[in-house]
Amino acid sequence: MKVGIIGLGAMGLGMARSIANKGLLTAIYNRTLSKSIALGKELNITPSLTPQELAQQVDVILLCVSADKDVLHIVNTISETIKQDSIVIDLSTISIETAKESAKILYKKQVSFLDAPVSGGVEGAKNGTLAIMVGGDKKTLDIALPVLEAIGSRIVYMGKTGSGQGTKAVNQIMAAGINQAVTEALAFGQAQGLSMQSVIDVISGGAAGNWFLQNRGATMTKETFVPGFKVGLHHKDLEICIKMAQQSNAKIPLTEQTLVDYEKLIDQGYEDEDISALYRLKRI
Ligand code: NAP
Repeated sequence: MKVGIIGLGAMGLGMARSIANKGLLTAIYNRTLSKSIALGKELNITPSLTPQELAQQVDVILLCVSADKDVLHIVNTISETIKQDSIVIDLSTISIETAKESAKILYKKQVSFLDAPVSGGVEGAKNGTLAIMVGGDKKTLDIALPVLEAIGSRIVYMGKTGSGQGTKAVNQIMAAGINQAVTEALAFGQAQGLSMQSVIDVISGGAAGNWFLQNRGATMTKETFVPGFKVGLHHKDLEICIKMAQQSNAKIPLTEQTLVDYEKLIDQGYEDEDISALYRLKRI
């Protein structure tokens, strides 16, 4: 099975390396060519110069780009040259509507589409230990499983097209609440004059321990906010969640507050910092 990946950002880069380690990666494309040239040298793969060129060469195409409009743009572009019976797996976080629209465009080319958003951060992408929530045809997932197993350690079939993204929205609401709790608690701890390294160490082993505390606690208390997961990207996800909540009358006040807080950070120029930059608004 020949696999290509489009989008070599914070997540795509780690995923590409993990797939290459399994001997499956044969093609790479990134909009900014310098990134694909650098990775191409490292992995001994000639980078494709266009998404169309990549689509001609492989059986499975992974997408890991930023937002809805970017996924739709790439799907429309690859549909010009994609081979019949190929599989497209979108790992980006987007709306259910865009996932369905992408599936429709590709169906006309006799190409299958899976929405397969991921969780586990850049660390999970690098180590091949992401959680992957998959929507689409189960038989397509069965065929593509070896590819997803190269990047994920927990792969769960969620149902029809869009249910992967629906599940990811649940994840992003939870991530917003965790960000609020961890940044607020650590800013409080710092104001008490405690040793923050010891605070993080002991709390990580107890009932309040969590991935975000373990992976971002130390850096945020040192005021380092290198992404990771950009504020602008989580903001994009929370806008999707709020729209979904309005449609189903669900109440998500923590998410609404986080959106307001991210807007403050974005106004201050911190859009491309890690979401732990929320700490900036909490510190005393
Ligand atoms: P990123 O570092 O900002 O990278 C974005 C990638 O998408 C870059 O390779 C960028 O190309 C490419 N791209 C964006 N728009 C494009 C377009 N119109 N055409 C072609 N390429 C385009 O973002 P990331 O952190 O890797 O996140 C990627 C996706 O995964 C997002 O949907 C995000 O919400 C999701 N996600 C992220 C994390 C995380 O922890 N970072 C975790 C789970 C899910 P250039 O290099 O040319 O800019």
